Amino acid sequence: MDLYGVLDLTPAATSADIERAYLRLARRYHPGINPGDRLGAERFRQVQQAYEVLGDPGRRDQYDAGRHRRPAASIEASVEFDGFDFSAMAQGAEAATFSELFADVFQDAARRAVAADQGTSLELTMQISFEEAMRGGAVPVSVVRRDRCPACGGAGVVALESLECEACGGRGAVRWVRGHMVFTKACEPCGGSGRLTWAACGACASSGVQTRSEVVTVHVPAGIESQARLVVPGRGHAGERGAPAGDLYVTIDVADHKVFRRDGRDLLLTVPVGIHEAALGGRIEVPTLAGPITARVPPGTATGTRLRIRGHGVPDPHDRESSGDLILEIQLVLPPVRDERSKALLREFAQLNPVDVRAHLFEH
Ligand SMILES: [Zn+2]
Ligand SMILES: [Zn+2]
Repeated sequence: MDLYGVLDLTPAATSADIERAYLRLARRYHPGINPGDRLGAERFRQVQQAYEVLGDPGRRDQYDAGRHRRPAASIEASVEFDGFDFSAMAQGAEAATFSELFADVFQDAARRAVAADQGTSLELTMQISFEEAMRGGAVPVSVVRRDRCPACGGAGVVALESLECEACGGRGAVRWVRGHMVFTKACEPCGGSGRLTWAACGACASSGVQTRSEVVTVHVPAGIESQARLVVPGRGHAGERGAPAGDLYVTIDVADHKVFRRDGRDLLLTVPVGIHEAALGGRIEVPTLAGPITARVPPGTATGTRLRIRGHGVPDPHDRESSGDLILEIQLVLPPVRDERSKALLREFAQLNPVDVRAHLFEH
């Protein structure tokens, strides 16, 4: 029996609404006012029963919790049209339309559809080091999420000793009248059994979820780029009353590296070289993600020259062979010239190489 429906109210009703509705309906159906009216007497009994529960804040909370908890898939199917009853004349307010007659049934179905909604997803940004982004792997992240209540397993209710159902007085079925038509259906709070074996879970206020902090492992693919978005299925907020959890979306923020810069699948590295190394060529040691290697600088290398070292760039998680390259950007560094011997050598070098390095600026 929908106790709110009995009082012509919705679950959003305030306690003042309940009080007013009870007084109005009790006056209308009181057996003293309607002697011999069998339907009126039945309605009066239902109104009183509804008020006993809804008029008491504690019992109302319990009833509200109970309304949501049970899938009771066969409730709509069990609603039966129980024939016409012309023993009372339909009053204005009771001359229901067809949709009003079946409103209870439709409301039940709508409520269950809402209850099955998936939990909401969670979004967070995770900063990882440049090396972690290159290497990939499992990265733990702390998440505050609503999870299934451990006390009730997400159901919102806990098992109790069997009690008689208050809503139907243990009969398992409720009967209600609209106009001249009489309906019966299985009692919703007890699922038609007449016994209540469940009570609202106190640990989660019958929502079936609890907020807690949890460490979630995010699997980062090697070579991931900054602002990439990963999804961890089922690690968003748990749905209410056992509905499936949403997903966790993780936006990756890759920290800058001290010396390497990223350009797509290639890594850029600015490499300072002395003028003797640039002029004469030579072998220099350079860092890579896998450790130092030796690179060859050809004789006569100008500043700004790019030297490509195959396979030492960003790793390709799907194909080790097609990793990016490491690109060395050569930067000539002039050593400080302070002593007289070095100055004399440079003057001598200039005399031996009388090249006008600015000649091209005047050729036009
Ligand atoms: Zn719980
Ligand atoms: Zn019942």
